Order: sequence, then structure tokens, then C-alpha cells
Amino acid sequence: MKYISVVHLVDTEGPLYEPLNITFNRIKETFGVKIKANKSNLKKIFKKDIDLNLNSKLKKKFFESFNERILNYKKNWKEINSQNKILFSKKFRSRYKDSFGQNWKINWNCVDHINYKSNPQRKTLGYHKIFDYYKNRILKSGIKDSIHFHFHPTSIPNSSNTTGNHYFSNSDNIFQILCRRIIDRNWFPSVYRPGFHIENPDSNWFLEQFIPFDYSNQSCSQINTNTERFENWEYASKSWSPYHPDHDDYQKKGSCRRWVARCLNVGTRIALLNQSEVDRAFAEKKKNKKVILAFTNHDFRSMEHDFNNTYRMLLNSSKKYKIRFKFSDAREAFQNLLIKPKKNIKFKINFIDDKIFIKSNKKIFGPQPFLAIKTKDKNYYHENFYIKKPFKEWIYSFDRHSIEKNKVDCFAFAANDSYGSTVLVKIKFNNNRFTIKNYNL
Ligand SMILES: [Zn+2]
Repeated sequence: MKYISVVHLVDTEGPLYEPLNITFNRIKETFGVKIKANKSNLKKIFKKDIDLNLNSKLKKKFFESFNERILNYKKNWKEINSQNKILFSKKFRSRYKDSFGQNWKINWNCVDHINYKSNPQRKTLGYHKIFDYYKNRILKSGIKDSIHFHFHPTSIPNSSNTTGNHYFSNSDNIFQILCRRIIDRNWFPSVYRPGFHIENPDSNWFLEQFIPFDYSNQSCSQINTNTERFENWEYASKSWSPYHPDHDDYQKKGSCRRWVARCLNVGTRIALLNQSEVDRAFAEKKKNKKVILAFTNHDFRSMEHDFNNTYRMLLNSSKKYKIRFKFSDAREAFQNLLIKPKKNIKFKINFIDDKIFIKSNKKIFGPQPFLAIKTKDKNYYHENFYIKKPFKEWIYSFDRHSIEKNKVDCFAFAANDSYGSTVLVKIKFNNNRFTIKNYNL
């Protein structure tokens, strides 16, 4: 199997309106340059005709970061739609064939914008809004794209243009989103892209329980103007070979179960995929390393340039190293590097009085499945199981400490195995009867 899996992940967030004050604030935050926020100064920046108190290296970086192409956000669904009309056409996709004659494939990692206090960038708020839009787009187009998961941690001010760095401290959004994806959409992720590339001990341990494939490592030797503030991949591996992270330090190789793949950016400001990085991936493959070449951009930016530019680099390296490449689904790219297990997860479920007993026929990825409960009054809850045997056996009790059984509308759970095969179970309650439905995703 001498080919490289090429994985294009889009952090999928819907439209983004960018008022001038937000652009100029970001300029100040990123480069420490204070410029009055107005249209004429923005035009001067586009023309590279503005006074900047920066050395020539930073000046170059500044104009790479703030230019007409990068600041050309899709500010409403109409603009997103007109870009997607092109991206979801077979004519466009077939311009970019891999070495096997297959068209370019996109992995849409869909976020939910929810529970914000303020929304100056006019993001589309609500559960499933972006997920449903792209799911329908894929269905209608007949193009074999995939949907995976993206999450933005909540900041202390909780406005939609700021980011937190803790997944749970300022909201339980991640649980609310995943409960709804399971119960309302029969869906659970095996692949993850972290919002703002941010991981920390809390997210390291959360992912370690549930999600086996993590495209997060942005380590590279380029200038990063975000240092010591948001994401930190400074000393993680610069190899394109995925690694198991350490329990206490996600940047170090260790004995965690999940895989972290390197994923650089296209069409933005920092940690960019360039020709020497693409070459490095092909050179590593030549040495028989297990390699995934992954890159990411956003649906709210003009993406066309990213396709041409990345495709040209892929063709160059493929020719230079005489190695083929294949546009891949993000889960399949990992599965190609792993040994397929002999059996799929199957759960055995028993009810005794107000307890539910669950057993798996084999070890699941983490110590317990992800539990999601919906009550008849339409609230969603995530909880721990009573873990009878980690990875294999669990109990849940309906009582005054949790929820009385007669108040439950749906009890559901989902789990991956280490190969990223996902199984989801939904148990619907109706008076004293219940129905069980299994989904293999
Ligand atoms: Zn994001």
C-alpha cells in the first residue's frame, strides 16, 4: 500500500460577518500594531500602503495575514451557498483527481454555535444548523464527502468572537451538543478537529474517553504570532506520522489510546502547509513511515485558491518521490494504517427494575460509552455510567438521584472501538414498554 492518504478537513462554521473593529482589534492582538478602524485604512492594508512599525520579516507576515483574499469572509448563507454551488459540483471536483483517478474529497467538521451572550460576527446560532445544511448538501450533490466533529470552547465573556481554552468550565456545551447529535441525529463522532486548535489536559482526557482520531497537531517551524496565548503545539512532533499522546502532555508521545495526526492550515495566517511540508510527508512515506497528510481551512473563506495551490504541491511531491496520493475520508485514512478488528461492537442490554445493564462483546475505545438522556420535557443530560468493568460492562440507575424512568423519553449511548467503528444505541420509553434501536455508523 504505497500511497499517501490526503485528508482535507474543513472547520465548518457557516457564515462569518467581520465588522471593521474586529479586524483591527485582531491586527492589534496579533502584531501589536494600533491602526484606526476605518475603510480607508483597510484599503491601504490591501494595497500594502500603510505605515507599520514592524521589521521586514514581520511586515511580510502581516501582509500574508491581512489581505483582501483572507479577509474576504462569506458573511451570510447566500455567499456560502454561492461558494458551495461550485465546491459541490462534480465538474469542479473532477478538476482535482488523485493518483487513483478519484475526485477531491472534503471532510466537513461541523460546529454548533450555541448559548452565546453576544454574537457580533452574526454566526448562525442553534443546534444542528450547520450539520444539517452540509448533510443535505452532500446528499443532494451525490458527492462522497464526510461529516465529522468540530467544537469551540466557551470563553468567559461568552461572545461568539472569543474563545475559551477549557472545554467544560464555562459551559456544558460540548455535552449538550453531543447528546443532541446522538438523540436527534443518530450520529456520534470518531474524528475530531479542535476549535482554534486548542487542547489542554481537560480536552486531552475527554477525547481519550470517546474519540479515537484527533487531527490537531499544528507543530511547525514557521513564525507563530499566537504564541503563548491560544493553541500550543510548539514542541509536538513535526512528523506526518500520527502518535499516541502522553496522559499528562498531549504534545509528547505516550501511552494514550487515541491517535493525534498533524494537520496544518491552508489559506490563513499561521502554520501553513507549504511545498517543503508536503515534500516532508512524501519523504516520510518513502521511508515506509505511516503517514497521513492533513490540512484544514474554513467554509467562511474563499476556498478556491486553496484547492489550486494545494493540488499543485501534491502533484509536485508525488512526481518527485514517485509515490501516489489518495483523497481520503478522515476516518478511513487512520483505518488504512490499522489492523481491522475481527468483530464489531455489539451491546447486550438488560432491564431489571429501574436499572439498565449493558455489556459489550469486546473492548470499546474508552472506559465507558458516551451517555445521552432526553427527558419528556425535552432536556438533555450527559452522565457517567456505573462502570462495572471498564471498557466492557456498565449499569445505569433511574432514581431520585438521577431521573425517574417515567420521565425519560430517550436513553441513548454511543461508542467507538479503537478502529473508529461507531455503534449507537437508542432506547425509547413508552409507558412500561421500550424499544431498542442499534446504528452502525
Ligand atoms: Zn473553529
